[in-house]
Amino acid sequence: MSAESPIYKFMNATVISILFLVLTVSCFSQEPVAPLKKNEFNKATSYNELTTFVQQLDAQSDLLHVELIGQSVQKRNLYALTFSSTEFGKDPLKIKVLVFAQQHGNEQSGKEGALLLAKELLNPENRYLFDKIDFALVPQVNPDGSEVNKRRNANNMDLNRNHLILTEPETKAVHDFFDKHLFEVTMDVHEYSPYGEDWIKYGYRKNADVTVGTTTNLNVSSKIREVSGKNYLPFVLKYLSDRKFSSFVYCPGGPPEIDYIRHSTFDINDGRQSLGIQNTFSFIQEGLNGKDGYVENLQHRAEGQMTGMRGLLEYVYLNKDMVKDLVTTERIKMVAAGPGEDVSIQSVHVGNGQKLILPLLSYFSGNDTVVTVYDYRPEVKSLLDIKKPVGYLIPRELTTLVEWAESQSLKPIQFKISSTFKAEQYFINKIDSIDFEGDRTVDPWIVVQNCKENFPDSAYFFISTAQLKGNMVVLALEPKSMVGLITYTHYANLLKHGEVFPILRVIAK
Ligand SMILES: [Zn+2]
Repeated sequence: MSAESPIYKFMNATVISILFLVLTVSCFSQEPVAPLKKNEFNKATSYNELTTFVQQLDAQSDLLHVELIGQSVQKRNLYALTFSSTEFGKDPLKIKVLVFAQQHGNEQSGKEGALLLAKELLNPENRYLFDKIDFALVPQVNPDGSEVNKRRNANNMDLNRNHLILTEPETKAVHDFFDKHLFEVTMDVHEYSPYGEDWIKYGYRKNADVTVGTTTNLNVSSKIREVSGKNYLPFVLKYLSDRKFSSFVYCPGGPPEIDYIRHSTFDINDGRQSLGIQNTFSFIQEGLNGKDGYVENLQHRAEGQMTGMRGLLEYVYLNKDMVKDLVTTERIKMVAAGPGEDVSIQSVHVGNGQKLILPLLSYFSGNDTVVTVYDYRPEVKSLLDIKKPVGYLIPRELTTLVEWAESQSLKPIQFKISSTFKAEQYFINKIDSIDFEGDRTVDPWIVVQNCKENFPDSAYFFISTAQLKGNMVVLALEPKSMVGLITYTHYANLLKHGEVFPILRVIAK
């Protein structure tokens, strides 16, 4: 039978059809399914399941690539899933968005929502997003904590209090990744747990499926804070409620009548503010924690988290030029900001006469209700401003500070005290304390002295404030800063009563 004979051709066509069918069926059967779904929403995704799933997605899609951005204390991989219709981070017209989840290992729904989202974004109907957006998703920042369902990492550190000092490999990985791409938009995904004893006694608890918060530190561009609160928040809260997830603005504190309610901390050691302080359009999203174990209602919780993240992408898609222009302009201003600008280094939460209508679940009736909060403090007010110096001189013998500057990728530059600049040093007269969001923090009394000596490069390195991390540098290094390095045990020994503070300020004469 020759190859050209009709029967051969028929067989050939049949074989090809069957092969095609087999391939199609096997492709469908290999279609990756999110582990949570595979586990019928009864078990949180393990690190191994997560690893297998993201690798399957990578193999399946041209849109998504998995990048290893670091490793945890126990050497588990930290993955970023990058989504781009071109080469990630290379198109200057696109906007870059970073979402990262599960810094706290016992907050499972952020990771689960991120994995559901990854799968969802590969549906062809979502492809339009990537005409404008390069998106990076880190589903799990704390795999070691997640494996044992614990908040902290394997060094027993709270990662979401570590973004200023960056002593942990997990937070360092997030910041290195951020520094590499300078994402214009970021969101840090968590859970909140409203089941505390004082709330039980009060008879109510917070009950929103998803809450969203913005940056509140006064040194984040006021325009970015304004657009975040007045434009993004209403958009995403409606986006969630339109999809049957109850939503509310992120407001820790309470119960009312016992403690005031505010819009989060102004500290810059968490995921949202540490990136926000670099004039990023930066948010926190918190889903409701499971009450009697982390799997309670996990499907609804994960889908709520996914919907909030999806809402962020939709907002950024619809407002791409506005957000990108805003961030670009405010970042240029930050880098160019001359010495002498005001930086707020001590602040307080204050009321503005507004009352808060807070949605709660009543333990008496078992129903949703609202409570009016009178002690509501939505504003942040500065208690102490200082003039931004040109930069700081740091003694090289203080190795903890040298390591800190390196971990923050702050490039020391050569600097000579010339006729235009002078250095100042603080003398510590007394070490007092000050209220900080209901706790006490260190508050030294200082006297400013002029320095006449030379500052050889061999003994000091200089960190300029004319950079994207300029305000962060001031907040970290000023001894009277409420959120400075010396408020951490690791750096507490820099402050000694009756001695000079070792970090010098350089100012214009
Ligand atoms: Zn958390």
